Amino acid sequence: MQPSEEIKQKIDIVDFLREYIQLTPAGMNFRARCPFHNEKTQSFMVSPDKQIWHCFGCGKGGDIFKFLMEMEGIDFVEALRVLAPKAGVQLRRQNPKVASERARLLDIMDISRRYFHKVLMESSSAKQAREYLTKRGLTESDLMEWQIGYSLDSWDGLLKVLKKQGYNETEIEKTGMIISNQQRRSYYDRFRARIMFPINDINGNVVAFSARVSPEKEATEQMGKYINSPQTVLYNKSNILFALDKAKREIKLKDQAIIVEGQMDAVSAHVNGYKNVIASSGTALTIDQLTILKRYSNNIALAFDTDEAGHMAADRGIREAMKLDMNIKVILVPEGKDPDDCIR
Ligand SMILES: [Zn+2]
Repeated sequence: MQPSEEIKQKIDIVDFLREYIQLTPAGMNFRARCPFHNEKTQSFMVSPDKQIWHCFGCGKGGDIFKFLMEMEGIDFVEALRVLAPKAGVQLRRQNPKVASERARLLDIMDISRRYFHKVLMESSSAKQAREYLTKRGLTESDLMEWQIGYSLDSWDGLLKVLKKQGYNETEIEKTGMIISNQQRRSYYDRFRARIMFPINDINGNVVAFSARVSPEKEATEQMGKYINSPQTVLYNKSNILFALDKAKREIKLKDQAIIVEGQMDAVSAHVNGYKNVIASSGTALTIDQLTILKRYSNNIALAFDTDEAGHMAADRGIREAMKLDMNIKVILVPEGKDPDDCIR
């Protein structure tokens, strides 16, 4: 049997679609407001019997694969990668030469994540980083859950690891993990001596990193406290929200999303039991981010710093959210306080 057939047998379409949209029973079937076009009535039908969906408004329809591809804007191969583990179906590992470029780039990010995490947990060079994270209240299991890592103070620590695994500089550069010098004759690691926070897409694939300066270098750092991956084929900054992959279920359940500015704030909110918290990564919210969020809830609360930058970021986010008819609350975080103190 094809893996896709096996997956369809194991995942029920009704259970799966419920993670995304509200389904109302209608005889043998279910109906919903279509997530792919704007409507007040329910033209979107799901048949548990045939395991298919169809919208009589916009004409779209198909199986769980088609739904996920439409919903997340991904291709079939990627939908397979998302659904296989949910169904407990093992995919044959593809020959790296023929795997699609996107899949190869995702593999590079995944290897990077594992490498940084191992360095954080085991390297003596990461001792101060570990102490800092412990002080921020993160246990070892939190570090594992969030796959937080550390990049060594080295020009080619990651580059060597990736080349050894059969990836070349040209494709690694496309992920933003390395930078080439002016003449493009040599490459070096983008992130050095930093605490690494993986930024995932909504399905939990690592698409970028946010990197915080190592505590012992904070005083002398020239590049800034946080640096992020650049925009890449994998990472579209305007539609990724940090931690949404982990928070989406809870956002739907609580029917509210709380948005904070920094990754560290989001992680510590989750650790303290506030699992509907996501981070905008210090930039103004975009209409694309809010449109994605609206799939899960129409209610958002912005918990931003009271400093100037926080105000401006919140302002623009509010204007965008109002265009989408979302309900917005603003939680002002006094200077020197953590957002999770205020969320409480
Ligand atoms: Zn439709």
